[in-house]
Amino acid sequence: MKHDCCVVCDLLPLYLEEMVSSETADYIKAHLKSCPDCAAKLERLAKPGKAENIIAQKNKDNSCAVADFKTVKKRMKRKITVWVCLSAFLALIVFLFCNDFWPPTIDYRTSEVYTKEEIGEVIALIKYQYRPETKTRLYSVTYSGDDVSESKLAYINSEKRDDVTYVGCMVFSVKYRSSPYAGGAALPYTESYLIYTMVRTKGGGWKIYSVGTG
Ligand SMILES: [Zn+2]
Repeated sequence: MKHDCCVVCDLLPLYLEEMVSSETADYIKAHLKSCPDCAAKLERLAKPGKAENIIAQKNKDNSCAVADFKTVKKRMKRKITVWVCLSAFLALIVFLFCNDFWPPTIDYRTSEVYTKEEIGEVIALIKYQYRPETKTRLYSVTYSGDDVSESKLAYINSEKRDDVTYVGCMVFSVKYRSSPYAGGAALPYTESYLIYTMVRTKGGGWKIYSVGTG
C-alpha cells in the first residue's frame, strides 16, 4: 500500500491537470477510494489557491506584460512621431535655405517726398526683375533716401537724355544673387549690389531709368 501511495502521490498533480492516461486515472481513482491519506492530499492540491490560483497568477502576469508592451509601443510611437516631425521640420528649413524661399528684406526708410505706398509700388517693379523664373534671387531692396533721389532727379533732368522732364525719382540699392545659370561675365551664385534709378514723368507711371553698379 505504501508503494502505491508514493506512486499516486507523484501522479496527483498530473491527474489534476488531466494529463494522465485513462488507465492511470482509473488506477488513481481506485486507490483514492481506498486510501483516505491520498484522497486528503488530492483535496489539498485541488483547493482553490493552488492550481487555479497559479493559473490565475500566470494570466495576470501575462496581462501585465501585455500592458507593459502596449505602454512601450505607445512611447515608441510617440518618440517616432517626434523624430519624424523634427526631421520634416529640419528638412523644410534646409529646403527653404537651398531654394532661397525667404522673401527679400525691404527697407522703405523714411521719405518726406513719397508715401510708403508709392515706394512700395516702385519696389514691386524692381521685385518683378527677380521673379522666380529668372532664378536670380533678390535679397534686399533699400530706398536710398530723399536726398539721393532728389539730387539724382536734378542730374537726370540736366542730362536731358530722353528729352523729357521727370518729376519723380527714387534711387534704390538692391542686393541680389545671380542666377545659377548666369553666363558671360556674370558668375553663377554670386552676390552683388545694383543701384536702381526709377523715374516718372508728370502724370506718367514709374519705370526703370537706369540700373548700374554706382
Ligand atoms: Zn494512498
